[in-house]
Amino acid sequence: MSEATGKIIAAIRGALDEALASGKRATDGGKAIDDHQVHAERLAYAATEAAAAEALAADASAQSDATTSLMTAAFAGEVASRLRAQIEAHPDDFGVSDAVLARTLAAPDVLAAARAAQHESRFREIGREVIRTRGANNCAIDGDVAEMARDSARAFARKEVVPLAERIHRHDELVPDAIIRQMAELGYFGMSVPEEYGGQGMGNLVMIVITEELSAASLAAAGSLITRPEILTKALLKGGTDAQKKKWLPPVAAGELMVGISVTEPDTGSDVASVRCRAERVDGGWLISGAKAWCTFAGRANVLALLARTNPDAKAGARGLSLFIVPKDPFPGHEFEMRQPDGGVLHGKADATPGYRGMHSYTLGFDRYFVPAENLIGEAAGEGKGFYLQMQGFAAGRLQTGGRASGLAQAALEAAATYAGERKQFGRPIGDFHLTQYKLGRMATSLAAARQLTYAAARAMDADETVSLEPAMAKLFASDVAVAVTQEGQLIHGGWGYAEEFAISRHVVDALVLPIFEGVKPILELKVIARGLLGG
Ligand SMILES: Cc1cc2nc3c(=O)[nH]c(=O)nc-3n(C[C@H](O)[C@H](O)[C@H](O)COP(=O)(O)OP(=O)(O)OC[C@H]3O[C@@H](n4cnc5c(N)ncnc54)[C@H](O)[C@@H]3O)c2cc1C
Repeated sequence: MSEATGKIIAAIRGALDEALASGKRATDGGKAIDDHQVHAERLAYAATEAAAAEALAADASAQSDATTSLMTAAFAGEVASRLRAQIEAHPDDFGVSDAVLARTLAAPDVLAAARAAQHESRFREIGREVIRTRGANNCAIDGDVAEMARDSARAFARKEVVPLAERIHRHDELVPDAIIRQMAELGYFGMSVPEEYGGQGMGNLVMIVITEELSAASLAAAGSLITRPEILTKALLKGGTDAQKKKWLPPVAAGELMVGISVTEPDTGSDVASVRCRAERVDGGWLISGAKAWCTFAGRANVLALLARTNPDAKAGARGLSLFIVPKDPFPGHEFEMRQPDGGVLHGKADATPGYRGMHSYTLGFDRYFVPAENLIGEAAGEGKGFYLQMQGFAAGRLQTGGRASGLAQAALEAAATYAGERKQFGRPIGDFHLTQYKLGRMATSLAAARQLTYAAARAMDADETVSLEPAMAKLFASDVAVAVTQEGQLIHGGWGYAEEFAISRHVVDALVLPIFEGVKPILELKVIARGLLGG
């Protein structure tokens, strides 16, 4: 990182710290965020962008590689300009004094550095390199293990997943068992499972780089297959009994048990504490009754991690919820029904979606569906802890989604860079035009920032499994980058970007789901990031 970039980043941090301190006072330490939602959202996003700029600057490649160094400076310059514009547009809300602004974002040397760094010629230079390398990502990752894992996941994904991805999407097929089997053999379902329970214990950074490669091949038919095991694994490690960990983690790690996560209901989404699906205590277990929505992979899954209300008193809120492992038979189609000998029924029907195809997402109806007592995570001690365990699992899911989003954006960048080098209009490759180079330069830059923010979150989670702010920021930013980069990539393809034969059209519709699940974007910003920044 150059001295000038260091100055920009220090200025962003200086102004942001002042704004966060002011935000804490205005929201009474985060308690009154709902009275200041619009500003809290601005702060959450600004802090996320600042964290991305810092993560990109901390990346080892920024020291050695000229293009990464340009990207680091350009991204920091853009973030600085956006933050300054926000502060000047809403001075009372931000509460950053003129004096602080003058010595940070408005300081003449910072302004000059930020302007130079984001000059269009810099982005065009980055864009030309992106076209030359066809967008390839070979960024250095600390640790040989992660780089080797990336190479082998890339080889697998390109050979085994890419040839099937278009067909699965266009025919709304279920991911073939052959892909699941091969991913199981490679150990991809047990990356976060400790070795004592049959997993790889590879840690979060390795999990992320593998997720990126799988998602670049197909978001739904590869990269997302490991989200659900990750979520259940983290919940079990946090709250499961020893016997439960021994029983469930080895088959999850081996890819023998496919998992669905069932939290959302038709009338309850973001307000998870209000989940209504009930679990009624009976001899030897629980009877589940109620509706669930959007349960991805519920047909093929062998078990569902289900959040249900064990305390019928609605006033118990989040403390009335428990997390169950619900066994079921796997079904291949878009609709299924599971009948138990004592009359319990589970019915599932997939909702049609424009993208994210390959696993199908189901509306479920449970009617007195029996689950043994030992399947309540934590057993007696886990009663009423389901919300907390689920949130722990979601933090892991969000981190993994940072990787999914980065991988998907990478696929779009590579497709667009390749197309820009080959497509000719007005007698020249479209990549020769300034605007195409500029667009590709900005796409690559925001993607590099999203990737490094996600890697930083993975390292933070490797150091402390309980972090929630870092994975939420990675998920928020990388999802937005995936949406923007896929859409820009589609425009670079012109009309062909709208054709189903071109993978970019699939990437566009796949990316749209990323800001929705695991905490829809506004909820992630307000309830996780703003609360994390302004609370305490
Ligand atoms: C393809 C797909 C797959 C999914 N897979 C799964 C899965 O496997 N398991 C699972 O459990 N769920 C899954 N989901 C569900 C997903 O997690 C939810 O859709 C998401 O959490 C949002 O809930 P909701 O749809 O009920 O939206 P709502 O909670 O109704 O929110 C809608 C909008 O209302 C506004 N809003 C709501 N509350 C507030 C507030 N307090 N302040 C300000 N604005 C607010 C926001 O603008 C928000 O975007 C999936 C969803 C999709 C689309």
